[in-house]
Formats: sequence, C-alpha cells, structure tokens
Amino acid sequence: MRLRNIPGSRDVIAESEYVVREANATEGGKSLGDGWAVKGRWSEVFGNDHPIRIEIGMGKGQFLMELARRNPDINYVGIEKFSSVLLRAIQKEEVMELPNVRFIRMEAEYICDVFAAGEVDRIYLNFSDPWPKDKHAKRRLPSRQFLAKYDRILKKDGVVEFKTDNKELFEFALEEVPEAGWRIKACTFDLHSDAELCRDNIMTEYEEKFSSQGQPIYKYIIER
Ligand code: SAM
Repeated sequence: MRLRNIPGSRDVIAESEYVVREANATEGGKSLGDGWAVKGRWSEVFGNDHPIRIEIGMGKGQFLMELARRNPDINYVGIEKFSSVLLRAIQKEEVMELPNVRFIRMEAEYICDVFAAGEVDRIYLNFSDPWPKDKHAKRRLPSRQFLAKYDRILKKDGVVEFKTDNKELFEFALEEVPEAGWRIKACTFDLHSDAELCRDNIMTEYEEKFSSQGQPIYKYIIER
C-alpha cells in the first residue's frame, strides 16, 4: 500500500467516531482512564452482544466492510497499522455508515491489550506481509508467536482464516499450525477453484489484484 504519508490522516483518525482509541471508553460521561479501556467491554462499544470478528492488517477495508454489510448481526473490528491506509477505510465508512464496524490503528503485536480472553469469535488475516528474512519470521502474522496471542483472545471454538498469494508464506503458516498446538480445519492451494471454500468468498483488494494476474490464492481455516 503506497499511502503512508497523507497529511492530516492522523487528525482524521483522532476525531473519527468509527475509530476506537486508547482510553476511548467512557462511563457516565467520564473517561475510564488510560490504556485500552475497551478491553472486555466491546459489547458496550457496539451496544449489543453480537459476536466480534476482527481483521488484522485490514488495509483499506474492502473485505471487512463487505462482510459487515452482509452480516449485520456480527460486529467487525478492522486493525491497521498505517494511518494513511486506515484513512481510506474511514472514508468508506463515512459513506456506508455501517453500525457494526469499528477500526483501530495499531500494531498487531499489542492485540491482547485490546481484547479480553475469549472476546473474539473469528480472526481474518488477508495477504499479510511476508517478512521474507528468516530472522523476521516471528513478525509474520500467522507465526506461532502470533498464534499464541490469537489463542488468548479467541473464544474456545473460534477460528483463524488466512488467505495469501504468497506460497512461501503459506507453507510457513501451515508448518506453524501444529507447532502452536492448532489444527487445520480446511485448506486449499487454489481458493478460486475450490467450490466449497470459495462459496461466499469476499475478495480483498490484494486478492483482486493477484488473482486477476492469474495467481492462485491459498487459504486455510484453523482451530485449536
Ligand atoms: N488485507 C488487505 C488486502 O488483502 O487487500 C491488505 C493487505 S496489505 C499487503 C497488508 C496490510 O496489513 C497493510 O495495510 C499493512 O499496513 C497491514 N499490516 C501489516 N502488518 C501489520 C501489523 N503487524 N499490524 C497491523 N497492520 C499490519
């Protein structure tokens, strides 16, 4: 995503009603204090007890917002580390006004500061950065280090769904599954030719780009 320095994007994020920030939650008009006051209180953010699903590395939000449009009884939180990319998702939400969508600008490493144990129903990872050097393996979002974090915030029968065009990253991700104590529930090396896994598939921005170039899309769904 070549959108890293759009002037004013941080100001938009600081003021947007669709963005949840640290110390964002209030009670009786009073701030609940520093840190992620929303942790364990997401039902208050959305005003309902619907399941919460998150996309980590959401990009401009195409996938998450289409999911939210199709599933009004599920709440969605999009996580993105770059302000200028998140800005595009906020701009879409300003038009669509989906009540079941919120965004967070943060580095995924801190995910356990934001969600309590078992608070999340499903995690989506789409076209995650590959971090090709071995010494950076633990930064890959499907790494065992991240799976340990997902294990904490996901409810017991929650799943992680991962899509990518990157074969090396996918093979790495598959190897990490048993190492982290997870199991593969479903897997394909060509999502768009897999009638079952592709049913109801929502294309991400990167998926549209790579599949239009003829590249296969890899996907797994994993559980503990
Ligand atoms: N998911 C979108 C798609 O499939 O079109 C965007 C894919 S893009 C290759 C990866 C996105 O994840 C970028 O916007 C990047 O800033 C974000 N990202 C990568 N690592 C992240 C992390 N550790 N925490 C939060 N966001 C991250």
